[in-house]
Amino acid sequence: MLNIIIFGPPGAGKGTQSEGLIEKYKLTHLSTGDVFRKNIGEQTKLGVLAKQYIDKGELVPDSVTIGMVENFVSDHVNVNGFIFDGFPRTIEQGEALDKFLSARKEDISIVLALEVDEDELVRRLLERGKTSGRKDDASEDTIRNRFKEYESKTEPLLSYYEQQGKLSRVKGMGSIDSIFADLCEAVDKIK
Ligand code: AMP
Repeated sequence: MLNIIIFGPPGAGKGTQSEGLIEKYKLTHLSTGDVFRKNIGEQTKLGVLAKQYIDKGELVPDSVTIGMVENFVSDHVNVNGFIFDGFPRTIEQGEALDKFLSARKEDISIVLALEVDEDELVRRLLERGKTSGRKDDASEDTIRNRFKEYESKTEPLLSYYEQQGKLSRVKGMGSIDSIFADLCEAVDKIK
């Protein structure tokens, strides 16, 4: 199995680049943000809970998120691999994912970390907010809170995966196609 984590701050292009990677490597996409938004739309119990955090730009609690991811992976058998987009976002989530995969004799193949300047991230998110209908993209305060969450809780995962020798840093600025080519080069090296 080829299991990829696409990693980076909000607005780095994780969702956009996932689309190409899914098609090229025939992967199953798990975007935790998309799953939460679908549940919010359907007003499920999970959606009502997640919305309280997402609208403020805070992370949804690990206990909720980890269980949701494990259910998703368990529900998809006989797949080529997964692309984890927006997960893990805390060390606890990363450790839980490693434990869960290793119990299934699987592991993370590579972590692709997109690097983008903060000014560019804010610009992209505000631009996306005009059309995405995402409340968490519309206000600069919420965007700033998401960066704070990223820096304090998510960024430490970079050294977690670096220590495992799985981290590949890729410049996330420039054209979508050239970034995609760099991501594929990193994946093809480990295949
Ligand atoms: P995203 O679509 O990845 O930008 O996620 C949107 C929001 O969903 C985030 O700002 C969080 O509030 C929540 N979220 C998504 N993935 C996670 C996760 N792995 N852990 C906690 N909260 C998450």
